[in-house]
Amino acid sequence: MTATLNSTIALPKPPIKQAKLYINGQWRSASDGKTRPTISPITETAIADIPEASEQDVEDAIVAARRAFDEGPWPKMTGHERQKILNRVSELSEYYADDLALCETLDMGKAIYFAKAIDAHAVADLFRYYAGMAPEIDGVTRLVAPPPDYTPKHVTIVREPLGVVAAITPFNLPSVLAATKIAPALAAGNTVIHKPASNTPLSAIKLAEIFEEAGLPAGVYNLVTGSGAKVGDQLVKHPAINKISFTGSTEVGMNIIRNSADTLKKTTMELGGKSANIVFADADMDSAIANAFFGIFYNQGGICTAGSRLLVERSIHDAVVDGLVNYVSQIELGNPLDPQVLFGPLADARQLEKVMQYVKIGQQDGATLRSGGERFYPDGSNGKGYYFQPTIFTNATNEMRIAQEEIFGPVLTVIPFDTEAEAIRIANSTDFGLASGVHTRDIKKAMRVANAMQAGTCWINCYNIFDASVPFGGYKSSGFGRENGKEVMEDYTHTKAIWIDLS
Ligand code: NAP
Repeated sequence: MTATLNSTIALPKPPIKQAKLYINGQWRSASDGKTRPTISPITETAIADIPEASEQDVEDAIVAARRAFDEGPWPKMTGHERQKILNRVSELSEYYADDLALCETLDMGKAIYFAKAIDAHAVADLFRYYAGMAPEIDGVTRLVAPPPDYTPKHVTIVREPLGVVAAITPFNLPSVLAATKIAPALAAGNTVIHKPASNTPLSAIKLAEIFEEAGLPAGVYNLVTGSGAKVGDQLVKHPAINKISFTGSTEVGMNIIRNSADTLKKTTMELGGKSANIVFADADMDSAIANAFFGIFYNQGGICTAGSRLLVERSIHDAVVDGLVNYVSQIELGNPLDPQVLFGPLADARQLEKVMQYVKIGQQDGATLRSGGERFYPDGSNGKGYYFQPTIFTNATNEMRIAQEEIFGPVLTVIPFDTEAEAIRIANSTDFGLASGVHTRDIKKAMRVANAMQAGTCWINCYNIFDASVPFGGYKSSGFGRENGKEVMEDYTHTKAIWIDLS
């Protein structure tokens, strides 16, 4: 179809009060007045003009966050006091859940059904969970008697906040990944500067409104929108920032590690993935097929844990592929603002281009395009919108580029295997190590495989399930550090040992 007319799909106005930077408790435009439009992938039209923070704006945010940490009340408050405010953030995230959801759908095309059912509540859960942890950040005491005099020493080991944390987040789960970083950082007593992805900034602005309404003191949370190359880079290199908590591509993560080395920053790196989802012949077929579908096609494949390599035991390979193709045909695809739709457009033109390139690469490398592989246009779109069909490749090998490189779109590569050992070998034969899945009725086999996975997460008979209390993160090129769970507090605190001579 050729694009000739404008889309007639009506987009509601983004539910934010103003598209501005939030620095030191003040809403303001970029100091040089620069803005960039954020484009909705639903219609390819601009939905808001977002400020491009200048060097001065970023500097102001750093000074504000630094002052709020060094002089301000936040790190000096009791855990209970911080808990009260973070609980208020959680309550307001529930109250504004529909607004947060609409921001995500307008900005990155996520189905409003999922944005409402999952994302907005996950944000509230994260703030509630870490609010509960704020008064519990405690230490331990050890009695030791080291050489040379072997006299007893009482050592009090305490945890202290790091200082100013820069949270740099990607386009795919904007509000959830922001909350994943901001909630524990604040609970531990740090102050935060957030730089969201430049193509999906709306929910970050909504969150800043929530922080303000919840009564977070000025400077404790600051929002700077703008490009990674400018705004992100300035944060990464600035000596007054103590930690970079980054989620994004492996390539950018590696750059950030290099660029933060001169100022020796602590970093958390949540990076890319190419996860294997393994289906054994004794699996519950219906559930395995549904999990294979949502494993890869949830969020249009724009999820770091996407089960983009489906490893299927050869004896059931054709049945699983047929079942999956049939499953795809029954899913409502289209305008993500329609609550019946489960699969909308890709987030932006860059993502669409990348997916189309990989479909070509898969075909050139000899895989069979079993299903999808084309753009599509819902009713009323008039050839506008970054819609791309759920796409399935078969007759693929694990060495092909479509099996090794992260596409971050709705492209599934199905690979057959004959034995458990072969499935494990293929699953681990990747540079990445973020997640994995195994489907079987044999719990012993499931646990053997889960233990053998070189990945931070393994789902047995389920896929893509997350909880604020469950640690999450990568092995190998998928990064280091953990998010969620109490384990993350190590990443947002220093450990100090205070020695007392008792002799
Ligand atoms: P990306 O291109 O790496 O960008 C991520 C963030 O980094 C954006 O805010 C970006 O700003 C910023 N950035 C870019 N260059 C920078 C630089 N030189 N210095 C500092 N910041 C910089 O990733 P994406 O395309 O938004 O997201 C997709 C990737 O995220 C995938 O690889 C996916 O697997 C990964 N991801 C990982 C997890 C996880 O938990 N492991 C979760 C979700 C996504 P701009 O937007 O302005 O470029």
